[in-house]
Amino acid sequence: MFPLVLRKLAWCLTAFLVVLSSDLARAEDKLKLLIVDGQNNHNWKAMTPVMRAELEKAGRFTIDVVTTPPNGAPKKDWDAFRPDFSKYEVVLSNYNGELWPEEVRVALVKWVGNGGGLVIIHAANNAFPEWPEWNRMIGLGWRDANYGPRLTIDARGLPMKTEPGKGPGAGHGPQHEYPIDIRDSEHPVTQGMPLRWMHGADELYHGQRGPAEEMNVLATAYSANDRSGTGAHEPMIWWIPFGKGKVFTTVMGHVGGNDTRAIRCRGFISVMNRGCEWVATGKVTIPLTADFPPTHEARLIPEAK
Ligand code: ZN
Repeated sequence: MFPLVLRKLAWCLTAFLVVLSSDLARAEDKLKLLIVDGQNNHNWKAMTPVMRAELEKAGRFTIDVVTTPPNGAPKKDWDAFRPDFSKYEVVLSNYNGELWPEEVRVALVKWVGNGGGLVIIHAANNAFPEWPEWNRMIGLGWRDANYGPRLTIDARGLPMKTEPGKGPGAGHGPQHEYPIDIRDSEHPVTQGMPLRWMHGADELYHGQRGPAEEMNVLATAYSANDRSGTGAHEPMIWWIPFGKGKVFTTVMGHVGGNDTRAIRCRGFISVMNRGCEWVATGKVTIPLTADFPPTHEARLIPEAK
């Protein structure tokens, strides 16, 4: 029999370890997410805080932001841009600008290949036409018609490839509210969403081009001819396996000037939050945003004051 004092000490130690391990479990529950921004033909300075706040509210992420040097910055500034992707489970790109240094490109490709989860928002798919692995990862980017095949969904709901050089290249008509059609309602990200929901006013990307290999299209939108569109169902959300990793793209999320309607859409927020969780874990625990948009009406979160 241990003396009483030793038994008390053992009890205290056990209690301490239980508290410590539950604290660790809580910290481990959170996924480490890195937002990359710094150059964009969109107002990335307005975008990142809105997206970050909504990701934080989801309660699943600890978030860092890394900002690249501005366009035309000297080499020494780029030499200092060396994000350590290996510290993160998710990288979200809000970047559309100059090509990253080779070391950073190699590191990103390696990180995704080893199981990292990359999330591409709107014009982030415009970036890097000259980077082959990037194009393989995003599948479709803002490129001209000769760049590569295009992918649309036909009237029967089946994917249809168009050859390079045929049909339209990348473009969009004027911003408007448009319905999102869920094409895979079993996927963890889209599960529980209405099969058609109204997206807040946004650009409707069409004619995106790329290698378009191993594309898993989760949702499309009809690009109407009377909205300067293509008369086709254009991919809005898709994912691509890359090594052990996953790359999740949504072309929703245009922010020009201070008009943040597209990213304040409650549907967009769910797509982003759940996409980030899913690329990291293969599961989704984040519920759909409250007041999720129904078929005929967009629903936005209020503008931050
Ligand atoms: Zn845009």
